[in-house]
Parts: sequence; C-alpha cells; structure tokens
Amino acid sequence: MTHRDYQICTNCIMDTSDPKITFDDRGWCDYCQNYHANILPNWNPNAKGEALIRPLIEKIKAEGRGKDHDCLIGISGGLDSSYVTYTAVTKFGLRPLIFHCDTGWNSDLGVSNIQKIIEGLHLDLVTEVVNWEEMKDLQLAFFRSQVPFVDTPQDLALFSAIYNFAAKHDFKYVITGGNNSTECVRESLDWTYFSTDTRHVKDIHRRFGTRPLTTFPMCDILKYRTYYRWIKGIQVIKLLDSVPYIRKDAIRELSERFGWQPYPQKHYESRFTRFYESFWTPKKFGYDKRRAYLSSEILTGQLTRDEALKMVSTPQLDEDTMTREFEYVAKKLGLTIPEFQAIFDGENKSFRDYKNNLFLITLGAQVSRVLGIERRVFR
Ligand SMILES: [Zn+2]
Repeated sequence: MTHRDYQICTNCIMDTSDPKITFDDRGWCDYCQNYHANILPNWNPNAKGEALIRPLIEKIKAEGRGKDHDCLIGISGGLDSSYVTYTAVTKFGLRPLIFHCDTGWNSDLGVSNIQKIIEGLHLDLVTEVVNWEEMKDLQLAFFRSQVPFVDTPQDLALFSAIYNFAAKHDFKYVITGGNNSTECVRESLDWTYFSTDTRHVKDIHRRFGTRPLTTFPMCDILKYRTYYRWIKGIQVIKLLDSVPYIRKDAIRELSERFGWQPYPQKHYESRFTRFYESFWTPKKFGYDKRRAYLSSEILTGQLTRDEALKMVSTPQLDEDTMTREFEYVAKKLGLTIPEFQAIFDGENKSFRDYKNNLFLITLGAQVSRVLGIERRVFR
C-alpha cells in the first residue's frame, strides 16, 4: 500500500483508514456524496414509505392465508432485527416465523433479548445451531489467513442459514433488519470483504482448515442473487426503510414494551463480534468499524459530527476487558495465549491474497445499482 497523508471527511468521520476513500473539493468523502446523490432521494422512512409498501404487505398477507406464517424474519437479538420484528407484527400485522442461527457466540444479553421479543409478541421461533467443531475450524482458518474480516464464518452462517431455510420451506418473503438509518455507510471491502463469496471462504479453509465442512451453512452470493431470487422467488424486504427508524427511539420503545436491554454498540449481541470489532481490527489492522456506524448516524441526522468524534476517540473496551476477551476467545478456539498472540503479531494480508469472485460479484452489484436495488457504495 502506498503512503497517503491522513485526511478525515469534513461532513462525517470516515477517514483514510479506509484506503480507497476519496474526497471532493469540500472535503466530503465519497460515502457522503453517494448518500446525498443516491440514497436520500430514494428513501422514504415516513408515511409515504409506508403507503408505498402497503400493497406488498397486503400481498404477503393474502398469500399467507391458511398457513401458520406468512413470512420469515431472522433475529440476532440486536436492535435492527428486534425492531424489525416488532414493526412487522405490531405495525403491519404480519405473522412471521422467527429464525435464529446460533453460532456458539451468543452473548447472554443477546439470548435474553431474543426471548423477550419472542414471548412479548407470542411468536414461534426456530433455532439452527451450527456445528461447533466446524465453526471453530473455519474461524481458526480465517485467523491464520491473516485477512481482516475474521467475522466471515459467523456472518456467512447467519446469512446462509436463513436463506437455505427459506428455500427449503418455501418461504417467499424474508424480512430483514437491514436499513439505511444505521448502515448507509457500508465500509470498504478492504475492511469487510463479502462473507458470502464461498470461493474465497473455501480457498482459505482449504489452506488453513483441518476438517471438512459438511454441515456448515453455506449459500454463495451468486446463488442467492440468481437461483434463490429468480428461480425460488424469494423476496427480501428491508422493512425498516419504509418507517421512521431512529436508534434512540427504537431502543426506548423496545425497552418500555418488552424490557429489551440495549448494547453499548451495534453488533454486540455476539461476544465474538464484539471482540473482533473492538479489539482485533483496531489493534491489528488500524481501522475502527465505529467510524462507519457513527457516520451513518451523522448522515441520517441522529448524531452530530462532534459527538461522533468524541465517541470514536475513546477505546470501545477498557484494557482489562480486552485482555479478558482475548483470553476467552483464544481458549474457546482451542489456542494457547502465545499461539493466539503469534497470529495477532503475524503479517496482515488482504482478501486479494486469496481466491475470490470479486469480479463477478462487482458485475452483479453494478447491475443492482443500475436497477436501483443497491444504492450504497461498494469498493
Ligand atoms: Zn463523509
């Protein structure tokens, strides 16, 4: 990587820790430019959005008549998936089957929040438990490969498990918590490569894995975008983009109604993701995923830039907690502390050092952008 002078966006807090970021004359980054040019004009988190999605909701209900459930919703226990479940049921009167994928890393708080939503709304829950030995093997392979996105195995399992379940059980409608409000800045591929590029996953596992993955949920992004979408007819609905979705209000609403408890940070429902985002990537790779989350909140008017700068300037976890979590993750993955430390000290690599299908995926993403399905920046 060539040396580049430090620069931070004058509108959000994305900076040159994202190696491909660009800035215009005002000092605005390409995420900010894209937000105003492509996302905001096409986004209606208001009465108009609700009116626009109503016909689809009525169609889902009509097709679901006589069945136990009319749609499928994946729940992690995090705010987005909890709130979308609540919205689907209370605001739109949908009758979802709730799907949870247990990767072995649920935090206690995450489990308790799932229970509160399920019981509070009287919903049916199915849980798929990923084979722990396979999960561990794939996670270890990713650590040994030295790529930054070591949360790929978990992310891949969560995504694949629900879409494979939908295809198997003939669910045509999957409602997700994906949303512009907290995710309109999608960090660069250098930070977070596609977890669903199974060519990439299999290459890393072939080199560093030790046991076959026979039951691990795998759904390739190309299969998902073609076979599942067009042959199986599975439609994915980002319901939160059609209603007002303000993080603070959503937390308050869920807390008051269900006793749902907030996390200090997005994605902390998984103890592994918390470790990965607060320790592994900032300390080993020098980037802090909070920059993307907080920038999304700045762009969507939920936070000021000064508040975000203040938040990002303090470490996410104190040193004692980080040391404890480092030891916990090492032990759980079957490594000694020196072994895990040696991996941490190893030379950093990029997803480009391994086989991947980036060319085909990018081509697909460009088609999605032309069709207006994807409006975020991918690079
Ligand atoms: Zn910006």
